Amino acid sequence: MQQDAGTLYIVSTPIGNLEDMSARAIAVLKQVTVVAAEDTRHSGRMLDHMGLQKFLLSYHDHNEEARSADLVRRLQAGEDVALISDAGTPLISDPGYRIVRSCQEEGIRVVPIPGASAMLAALVVSGLPSDRFSFEGFAPVKAAAREQFLRRVLASSGTSILYEAPHRILPLLEAFQKVAAPDRELVLCRELTKRFETVLRGSAEQLLTILHEDPNQQRGEMVLLVGPAPETSIEDEELERLGRLLLQELPPSRAARVLASWADRKRNDVYRLLELWAESDG
Ligand code: SAM
Repeated sequence: MQQDAGTLYIVSTPIGNLEDMSARAIAVLKQVTVVAAEDTRHSGRMLDHMGLQKFLLSYHDHNEEARSADLVRRLQAGEDVALISDAGTPLISDPGYRIVRSCQEEGIRVVPIPGASAMLAALVVSGLPSDRFSFEGFAPVKAAAREQFLRRVLASSGTSILYEAPHRILPLLEAFQKVAAPDRELVLCRELTKRFETVLRGSAEQLLTILHEDPNQQRGEMVLLVGPAPETSIEDEELERLGRLLLQELPPSRAARVLASWADRKRNDVYRLLELWAESDG
């Protein structure tokens, strides 16, 4: 660690309700020499609201590299810097990774000031399993890349958390409807911590119906959560392994007869599974 260098504080700010600003965040913002913010006008208004007039520098996707070098020089000269984003926690679908990495390489102390983040606020009210989850950010916009992304999300054995812009929520749900099992559980959390906070649960089809019936539900900021893939039992996995082996050696009808008698299942049911596995083998 550089002894006389300043500290970089990664400060979370509210995602809607200004009362979610922590006392520690206010104290740090008051104390630092520089506040690096995504949108200096937006953050300037928020700081004004807290009675703070600070020296603000912009730090966003387009100047991240140059600005990181500049901020590291300030930190090395002993200035304390706070990094904030427009809302929530910096680095979570927001800029900041580069400067944290640079500080780590230069031996400059980085301190988190935790607070609101839409992903965690959504997870804890979703009613979906929270013991294992992954944050997936925004889905790709192009249809083919999005479908591949959704298939990976749907295969996950934990809850998946996605951010989405309001004008893209319908295409995203339609894409889910296309590739997900009809009963796959989704939760849409809108406008968290704000006046019109809403949590909607259901399949892709059910959510689409709600959003079409009430276009207000297509508005605002939103997080979409996807429930885990249903667990497959050891027996299911063995059935599939044996089924795929049999398909390599036997015609499907004979493979179905052998597999049905091995697993003590109905031949028609097993035949349908064999068809699916043969299809997925291409
Ligand atoms: N860094 C932020 C965080 O910690 O949540 C996220 C920034 S990302 C650029 C913005 C996205 O976060 C929005 O498009 C939306 O998906 C989600 N988001 C932010 N505020 C939200 C809110 N109040 N309710 C629901 N989603 C929100």
